[in-house]
Amino acid sequence: MLFARLNKFRHTLTFRLTLWYAGLFTLSSCIAFLMFYYLIASVISERIDQELTRQINHFSTILSIRGIEAVKDVAVLEAQGAGEKKVFYRLLTPSGEIFSSSNMSYWRDINVDAKAIRRLLEGRPNVYQTRRISSQEYRVRIAYGFIGEGLILQLGQSMESYDRLIETFRRIFIVTMAILFVAAALLGGFMARRALAGVAAVTRTAKRITGEALDQRVPLTHRGDEVDELAATFNAMLDRIRELVTGIREMSDNIAHDLKSPVTRIRGQAEVTLTTNGGLADYEAMAASTIEECDRLLDMINTMLMISKTESGVVSLNTEPVNMGDLVANACDLLAPMAEDKQLTLDVQAAGDVRIDGDQRMLQRMVANLLDNAIQYTPPGGDIRVRLEKNGRNGVLLEVADTGVGIDATELPRIFERFYRCDHSRSTNGTGLGLSFARATARAHNGDIQAVSEPGKGSRFKVILPGREGDANN
Ligand code: ADP
Repeated sequence: MLFARLNKFRHTLTFRLTLWYAGLFTLSSCIAFLMFYYLIASVISERIDQELTRQINHFSTILSIRGIEAVKDVAVLEAQGAGEKKVFYRLLTPSGEIFSSSNMSYWRDINVDAKAIRRLLEGRPNVYQTRRISSQEYRVRIAYGFIGEGLILQLGQSMESYDRLIETFRRIFIVTMAILFVAAALLGGFMARRALAGVAAVTRTAKRITGEALDQRVPLTHRGDEVDELAATFNAMLDRIRELVTGIREMSDNIAHDLKSPVTRIRGQAEVTLTTNGGLADYEAMAASTIEECDRLLDMINTMLMISKTESGVVSLNTEPVNMGDLVANACDLLAPMAEDKQLTLDVQAAGDVRIDGDQRMLQRMVANLLDNAIQYTPPGGDIRVRLEKNGRNGVLLEVADTGVGIDATELPRIFERFYRCDHSRSTNGTGLGLSFARATARAHNGDIQAVSEPGKGSRFKVILPGREGDANN
């Protein structure tokens, strides 16, 4: 259990950010520390070499002023004065033979380095070496230098203080780095958690969301940062999903309702015919009405399918050159008797030769739906005006306006939804699919449809269709 949780944490962004932060922080501290270390180390070792050089010069002066015996005496005295475990002096001939030295019992493992003497003989001023003697805890810095004609001084100085300092420094370094790493990890973890708190909120909200609880939202901090933007985008996505889910629910309710009524009617009629023991005429009437209802049902199902296919771009249009002028005129001729029956004035202004590439049958149906609605929702005595004109270079604009009942502003945005029917038309015949089909058709032809309306005064539907590509005559 604990292992599984740790393993999960290991893959989190918080963990990786913390590690990066701690790692980078420790690395940069490490570099700063090492630079400081090398600076101190080189200053100290330079000091030791300066001291050794000063000694060689000092002995050279003694030799020139007071002679070799004085050099021997001073070497012994100086070693005693500084501590015989701290320094030693040896006087050598150019062939490397020792002819005098301070007390060497502590330094007996130190030999004369032939290579160093050779380098001196080659003309190098002084030669410096660092040696580690296995029997001793600290290293020793040794210098070789001529102090007079044919006389070389080999002197050594314990690097105790230097080695101690380095050791202390190393310990401080390790402890400090460990503390820094832990502190950086804690700080990094805290910062990463803070920065990703918004993401955690999005995740929590996403987990709480189910089909029934689509109203959950991520609280916004309004700081305008990336996480806030993510939360806002997530909330907007949820709004869309809720809209879609509600739409799907309403649509399925509507489908169920709209299919139920004709099926109930068919069943009722069949039942009545059966139970009343009617004659052949009754059965014929029942069959005719069943066919009619079934046709209506089929028409509705086909329209639904067509809208879905058109909206999802699955349907392939039967595209051909269409003369919209003729198409609109024919549709008006066809529906004129209906308008006349309702004493409506039908005013058609359709420019003659307006052509586009499109699906003739779908466009016919779209125009018929708009006209049919205008006639249906305009009380007797009203006016219907149909206008078709060129729009831009190749486009077409179709306008169907009426002086009918109009559409309420709250309902206007929904009239193109499948099965949506406004309050005022609930009692009239209709499926609520006419305008959805019209919009799907317009959009399938890369166009669109818009509606403006004022309740009690009338409505105006405007269809814009792009014209034929590269047709300069339109
Ligand atoms: P319907 O089969 O109900 O006519 P539509 O999709 O064609 O379905 O229209 C959707 C709804 O929009 C209608 O039920 C009606 O309430 C409203 N509507 C459409 N056209 C008009 C119009 N010209 N005037 C007033 N209301 C209209």
